[in-house]
Amino acid sequence: VTQNPQQPEVNIGLVGHVDHGKTTLVQALSGSWTDQHSEEMKRGISIRLGYADATFRRIPGADEPECYTVEETDEEGNETEILRTVSFVDAPGHETLMATMLSGAAIMDGAVLVVSATEDVPQAQTEEHLMALDIIGIENIVIAQNKVDLVDRDRAVENYEQIQEFVKGTVAEDAPIVPTSAQQGVNVDLLIQTIEEEIPTPERDEGEDARMFTARSFDINRPGTTWEDLSGGVIGGSVVDGKLSDGDELELRPGREVDEGGQTEWRPITTEIRSLQAGGQTVDEVRPGGLCGVGTGLDPSLTKGDALAGQVAGEPGTLPPTREEFTMDVELLDRVVGEDEDSVEEISTGEPLMLTVGTATTVGAVTSARSGEAEVSLKRPVCAQEGAKIAINRRVGARWRLIGIGTLK
Ligand code: GDP
Ligand code: MG
Repeated sequence: VTQNPQQPEVNIGLVGHVDHGKTTLVQALSGSWTDQHSEEMKRGISIRLGYADATFRRIPGADEPECYTVEETDEEGNETEILRTVSFVDAPGHETLMATMLSGAAIMDGAVLVVSATEDVPQAQTEEHLMALDIIGIENIVIAQNKVDLVDRDRAVENYEQIQEFVKGTVAEDAPIVPTSAQQGVNVDLLIQTIEEEIPTPERDEGEDARMFTARSFDINRPGTTWEDLSGGVIGGSVVDGKLSDGDELELRPGREVDEGGQTEWRPITTEIRSLQAGGQTVDEVRPGGLCGVGTGLDPSLTKGDALAGQVAGEPGTLPPTREEFTMDVELLDRVVGEDEDSVEEISTGEPLMLTVGTATTVGAVTSARSGEAEVSLKRPVCAQEGAKIAINRRVGARWRLIGIGTLK
């Protein structure tokens, strides 16, 4: 098991249609990643969002792209030079998990769109995921034309042209397309080089208020643990601004629902950070990039079973407001993604919408709809600041379909 020498500094999403090779590509790029994450906390994050860290390296003196590798030594046993450690967020391709993909997109700094050379372009989630990247504003994209080992040259060229045609006019218009075979390890070096060039680590401002999006939360205690040995609740997610330090006070919003005299209300939760985990190790500080686990002083029953997934954490008093209702500017897509013909009808008063804000997914009822604007009342509130991007999904047949993007007013 390789240990990464440093904390990951950037989150790279793997997106695209189911079975096109996202998970295999993550494995090719990061080695034996499932073994690296055997602890409960990380295994949990991995199932929900699927993630793995990898350290990109370079063989001194070797030519491009062959010099790019994830190995610690070259063929002669000489040490390779560390470039940076990245974290992959491997979005599930299964269509019912679109909400998870959207939550994951909130913490991606760039993305690799995996497209199989064996199928026509686009398949449903290829299109839906690209639209999601567009909506969330992820502009640094690399396209992996995968499974090229399974097609002949003519088919590879035809598929390559289909990809070019498909991305025209989208956020991925100028994205480089790298032919790969994740399974055979073909062009993994070129893919690393392209990621290094196209998905830089964003500039971070250390002085900003710490902000963490939680994607998961757990009770890590085994059944029957006595209270003296009980560990506090754990939250998992990604720091997107500032930094968290061991011992810091932490506030979580929206927090929890309290019932008082028949009235229910959402109250922020405050606690302290008792331990931090990032990049597979216990650390004193966590900065943006990669997923982290935060051990807190919370009663584990509060964090059990993802109860705090979708919440925002930071220094007490610095978080955006909790909103049980809000108004958003709405921009609808031209047509329902993944459906050939259905154009998107205007949002109507009374209809239910599924909204993803940051890593939170919530259902809201439209209380007032005007052209270009909608007011919604939420079942579960969200913590979000003005200007936050909202992915808007409508029920079409048996599932939720992405129909547009909102901006919180
Ligand atoms: P995901 O659903 O996008 O994560 O796809 P997976 O990574 O699970 O891959 C789906 C199947 O395709 C698996 O059986 C892989 O072994 C296979 N696969 C992935 N990449 C390649 C490739 O480049 N070539 C070939 N021949 N098979 C591949
Ligand atoms: Mg997969």
